[in-house]
Amino acid sequence: MAADHVDVLIVGAGLSGIGAAVHLGRECPGKTYAVLEARGAIGGTWDLFRYPGIRSDSDMYTLGYSFKPWTDPKAIADGDSIRAYVRQTAREYDVERHIRFHHRAVRAEWDSATARWTVHAHRDDTGEDVTLTCAFLFTNSGYYRYDEGYTPRFPGVERYAGTLVHPQHWPDDLDYAGKRVVVIGSGATAVTLVPAMAERAAHVTMLQRSPTYVIALPSRDPFADAARRWLPPKAAYAVARWKNVTLGVANFQLSRRAPGVVKRFLRRAAKGRLPSGYDVDRHFSPRYNPWDQRLCVVPDGDLFAALSAGRASVVTDTIDTFTEQGIRLASGEELPADVVVTATGLNLLALGGMTLAVDGAEVDLASTVAYKGMMLSGVPNFAMTIGYTNASWTLKADLVATYVCRLLRHLDDTGRQIVTPLAPDTDDLVPIIDLQSGYVLRAVDQLPKQGPQAPWRLHQNYPRDVRLMRHGPLTDGVRFDRAGVPATAATTSGGTDA
Ligand SMILES: Cc1cc2nc3c(=O)[nH]c(=O)nc-3n(C[C@H](O)[C@H](O)[C@H](O)COP(=O)(O)OP(=O)(O)OC[C@H]3O[C@@H](n4cnc5c(N)ncnc54)[C@H](O)[C@@H]3O)c2cc1C
Repeated sequence: MAADHVDVLIVGAGLSGIGAAVHLGRECPGKTYAVLEARGAIGGTWDLFRYPGIRSDSDMYTLGYSFKPWTDPKAIADGDSIRAYVRQTAREYDVERHIRFHHRAVRAEWDSATARWTVHAHRDDTGEDVTLTCAFLFTNSGYYRYDEGYTPRFPGVERYAGTLVHPQHWPDDLDYAGKRVVVIGSGATAVTLVPAMAERAAHVTMLQRSPTYVIALPSRDPFADAARRWLPPKAAYAVARWKNVTLGVANFQLSRRAPGVVKRFLRRAAKGRLPSGYDVDRHFSPRYNPWDQRLCVVPDGDLFAALSAGRASVVTDTIDTFTEQGIRLASGEELPADVVVTATGLNLLALGGMTLAVDGAEVDLASTVAYKGMMLSGVPNFAMTIGYTNASWTLKADLVATYVCRLLRHLDDTGRQIVTPLAPDTDDLVPIIDLQSGYVLRAVDQLPKQGPQAPWRLHQNYPRDVRLMRHGPLTDGVRFDRAGVPATAATTSGGTDA
């Protein structure tokens, strides 16, 4: 560990970071690498979140890795199973010994003369500051703050005498059996929590300001079950994965082209699962179009079942104030609550909070343009994993890791050391994430932009990205250099160089 230099430094040991390390080990076996992980465990999201019912809301045939079949019959899986799958992958592919736990990467400085990053990390366990160098920096740090979830300022909250919990920091010892619970929110977390807590609580109320599209899907996939019976595990996994990719793309395209049709379908599907006379329009018919925000999946319709059984209810209203006993709404209605869960979202955070500098100049993320959704204009030898917003995260993470390996091999083959995306010559730039969800809108100004067309445009389309990232050119929109060429030369040049 003396010089602490590696070819590739991966930041984050969640689903993406572990996958990136496996790709690197298999596709660039000669490269040395280390993984810096701020926490003391593997798994990221799937280790952090421990609220009742925590589960995926996309199917595991696409949320699983391309190289490791998901063999559990549950297509929508619980957090424990996903955590175990990520850990098992790290063990099976010998990634564990490369991970440095409790190392939070805080800053990275690129030096063109040596073609190296110097990365500064802080050890939360010992208080030490640690420095490493690497030729290529690959961040897999997720997309939100780990230390703090998002909670709006609720009037009167200080006088509330009950228990207030954020799902990101779930207390191990919270006993809600027989208690009145209010879950504030209408996103994936709220629709997961409500039926799970309703199994033991006296009653659970989901309090939402406005509705979200909610769709019931089977937790087991009969097609995947049949494929597993007839085909070897790898082939069965591939078939189930492509079936779900195709359905997902078709569903997204239909939502974009004929939103009215999809709206009516979702409304009818919800209505069919709720008691007659239920006010579907008030509670389950959003004002926005499907996929302007992510759809919420409820496995086997568990949310609708809890509502139909009277164990849970939905209230669509705004909070006037917290009281000592609960919440008073703008309509004047009072919701008594022993426990209030604020399922109000995440705080978006780019690059796990790391700052970057290139040849002494600070990188302002908001002024950069994302290249193929994974590199940044003017930032050499750097890649980041950001998953799809309309499909499983891992589909994109796998492609990004494969692309990084292709790039590294190309550098070696051509005797170059540096690859830098060149900013596109256009002012037609838009936010990198095109969702209208609150957590996106709160932070989008601080994030990189995307351009009008490939390779600067994110198409959120896996089959198209497979062609682009696995088989497409490596030389469009980037410049390759030998060590010593300053990065500013690359950012101001109009041409590309293979
Ligand atoms: C409750 C919940 C449910 C979700 N369900 C789905 C789903 O069903 N389908 C889907 O596609 N997506 C889902 N997502 C999105 C989900 O985050 C991704 O699927 C996936 O887990 C992201 O993996 P990741 O490794 O990129 O990021 P994370 O899981 O966030 O892991 C990032 C890791 O990087 C570490 N890290 C961060 N910053 C630093 C730093 N500066 N230095 C060192 N280490 C750092 C973190 O400690 C963490 O271990 C969900 C998200 C949440 C919060």
